[in-house]
Amino acid sequence: MGESTRSYSSLTQETSGYVGFANLPNQVHRKSVKKGFEFTLMVAGESGLGKSTLINSLFQTDLYPDSYYISSFINFIVFRYLKDESGLNRKNIIDNRVHCCFYFVSPYGHGLKPLDIDFMKQLSNKVSIVPVLAKSDCLTASEIKKMKTRILDEIKENGIRIYNLPDCDTDEDEEYKVQVGQLRESIPFAVIGANASVEVAGKKVRGRQYPWGVVDVENPEHCDFIKLRTMLITHMQDLQEVTHDVHYENFRSQRLSRGGSATSGKSFAPDTTDKLLAEKDQELKRMQDMLAKMQEQMKQQSTSNLANY
Ligand code: GDP
Repeated sequence: MGESTRSYSSLTQETSGYVGFANLPNQVHRKSVKKGFEFTLMVAGESGLGKSTLINSLFQTDLYPDSYYISSFINFIVFRYLKDESGLNRKNIIDNRVHCCFYFVSPYGHGLKPLDIDFMKQLSNKVSIVPVLAKSDCLTASEIKKMKTRILDEIKENGIRIYNLPDCDTDEDEEYKVQVGQLRESIPFAVIGANASVEVAGKKVRGRQYPWGVVDVENPEHCDFIKLRTMLITHMQDLQEVTHDVHYENFRSQRLSRGGSATSGKSFAPDTTDKLLAEKDQELKRMQDMLAKMQEQMKQQSTSNLANY
């Protein structure tokens, strides 16, 4: 559990045409093409829920062939950014802050598990969480509906903050307003991932071939994959702004109120900075060890369940 990504460096993907980059609003598109920008997406949730498959489906590529686990270390990244921003070399900051986290919820349980709740709680004031209902081809339409309601209720009951699609401006065109409404209603997005290309009525689609038929990942009647992708593309800039204006500002002001740094724009004292970074490194290592242990326990549990069965 708590598997998030393969490595942070591999997470940072320059957005490309694969995710419909050309669909960005014109002004944003022009600016972004000119300047270039980085968008960091994190995926989290139990192992085996289809995270790698979905990301590969989303970007139509094999993003991370090697798999290893890493813990949530959001604090560390943000801390490094804060340190860089407070330093002298502000122009060359590498922005590794996570702009969005797809949190995968299992379709097999009855909603969120205690570990999901803990993890999402810890994450929710640091990053914009977009919950997704994994492997939704395992559920019927009415089960998906029930699961979505349950997940949303539990998110609310537990005070977890998830990414809120911003309200549309009144002068926005109707089509866009309808689209945003539909995206909002679809949260948590019920997704299906597939790496294979299968043929349906003479057309190749990305899908899952079952004895009784094909699940077409990009068919909106089969799942919310396209909606999730649309949300990511159309709200990429907002996700970046929320990361900077809300999550980062919260972190920064907490740090300042704790006396981590004097005032904005001034550097940390070098010895304080090194000490804090070393502490963060240790914290990161502890979390990674803990996650590795949990993964091992879960593996053993499922092996013994299988043996008993
Ligand atoms: P990860 O550990 O969360 O990255 O999971 P993987 O992407 O490695 O997928 C684990 C297994 O689930 C693989 O056998 C995939 O083919 C399968 N899988 C992935 N996505 C789906 C899905 O949407 N539906 C179903 N039924 N299986 C899936």
